[in-house]
Amino acid sequence: MRPSILWFRRDLRLGDHPALLAAAADGPVLPLFVLDDALLAPSGAVRRAFLLRTLRALDADLRRHGPGLVVRGGRPATVVRDLAAEVDARGVHVSADFGPYGAARDDEVADALGDVPLVRTGSPYAVAPGRVRTGSGHPYRVFTPFHRAWVEHGWRAPAESDPAAVDWVGAPGSDLPEEPVVSGIDLPEAGEAAALARWEEWRGTPYDDVRDRPDLDATSRLSPHLRWGSIHPRTILAGIDARNPHAATFRKELAWREFYAQVLHAWPGSAREYFRPELRDLPYVTGAERRRRLDAWAAGRTGYPIVDAGMRQLLAEGWMHNRVRMIVASFLVKDLQVEWQHGARHFMEHLVDGDLASNQHNWQWVAGCGTDAAPYFRIFNPTAQGRKFDPDGAYVRRWVPELADPSLGDYPEPIVDHAEQRAAALEAYQLLRRHG
Ligand code: FAD
Repeated sequence: MRPSILWFRRDLRLGDHPALLAAAADGPVLPLFVLDDALLAPSGAVRRAFLLRTLRALDADLRRHGPGLVVRGGRPATVVRDLAAEVDARGVHVSADFGPYGAARDDEVADALGDVPLVRTGSPYAVAPGRVRTGSGHPYRVFTPFHRAWVEHGWRAPAESDPAAVDWVGAPGSDLPEEPVVSGIDLPEAGEAAALARWEEWRGTPYDDVRDRPDLDATSRLSPHLRWGSIHPRTILAGIDARNPHAATFRKELAWREFYAQVLHAWPGSAREYFRPELRDLPYVTGAERRRRLDAWAAGRTGYPIVDAGMRQLLAEGWMHNRVRMIVASFLVKDLQVEWQHGARHFMEHLVDGDLASNQHNWQWVAGCGTDAAPYFRIFNPTAQGRKFDPDGAYVRRWVPELADPSLGDYPEPIVDHAEQRAAALEAYQLLRRHG
């Protein structure tokens, strides 16, 4: 019987997999992953390493039922077309990709496949981007009404894909490449079993009142798994216990991920361009001074403890607590006067959960130029934020030990004066509003 190809991308799991169900309904299934340089090159070493570990875990899961994952490198339009011809594929099944690169790539693959259909079933979201629209049919720019409509729209129950019931077939493939060296970084365990175990372990724990506390490290840490689809958000939504008082808050966080995916889908340019272009004209630093400030920020040497702790956590773990992401982003844009895209690029290079939609739009939110942005004049005070959300200083002590023990090294003087920078930022903003 002619096989169907199941081309994995951001859906690296076998459970709750609508595209797998669709492929298996057509007969034998050949599982494929394409190492695509256009995607791999811009991902930093940490995200590439986590992806390769996730792929190894997927391969091991597949080998329990068949010959394992076929991995080929190259341009997807060529690789997928050639493999389809080689095995006389009946069709190619995927979970739909809604990002600007992924959507264009899939159109190109569909063209290259000619008569072999590219079948898109499901997506990395509970509700596919573009489904939830305003009463007048437009995409949402504001989170709160989106969230309401998203909850009202609802989502399907998890798909009952069963890898044991699939007739898996193989094809010659290359080995997975060696992982890039990410020395000293303790990556979370990768793969579907690890994602499900983490969800099981975490889901009953308190969230509401502790999620903003980096010192308590109380959030789910599911973001790298959601990034690569080793767990589907619907599996999580189905497992949130409605009786848990924290359920609504946690569900809302997942909705942010879906909101930003639909923003990127509707306005693909917002990944690089100011969503509200007027803030582009604020006085940002450039040249050597920008380099100097960016370097100090990236190395965690600004002289502001909570900022430095966050930036060092990013370098050490490939992850940073959400509250601290907001604080360091605000500090870069408003205190150091560096345009948001520079910070977003650094995050994308180092985050294990780096996701174009979530990262760029959260940066724009903090910078005050995004959809539904924080008002520009609300400028985080890094010292007050540190006091409020790391009240005993445990988070700062962990990442900036020289503060408590000077024998460990010199801690820098503050790179700028927050009060002065805040006043200057507000003045520039007022000027822009008056004359812009
Ligand atoms: P939890 O608090 O357990 O939340 C559960 C899930 O909800 C997360 O895994 C994530 O999928 C989603 N979520 C929570 N908050 C947000 C949010 N504000 N926006 C979108 N989704 C959210 N998240 C990424 O996944 N990738 C990124 O590249 C990314 N970049 C960010 C950049 C900045 C400047 C800021 C302020 C936030 C960014 N976030 C990003 C959002 C958020 O910080 C992380 O999703 C969260 O810290 C991940 O940890 P967790 O899984 O323990 O979160």
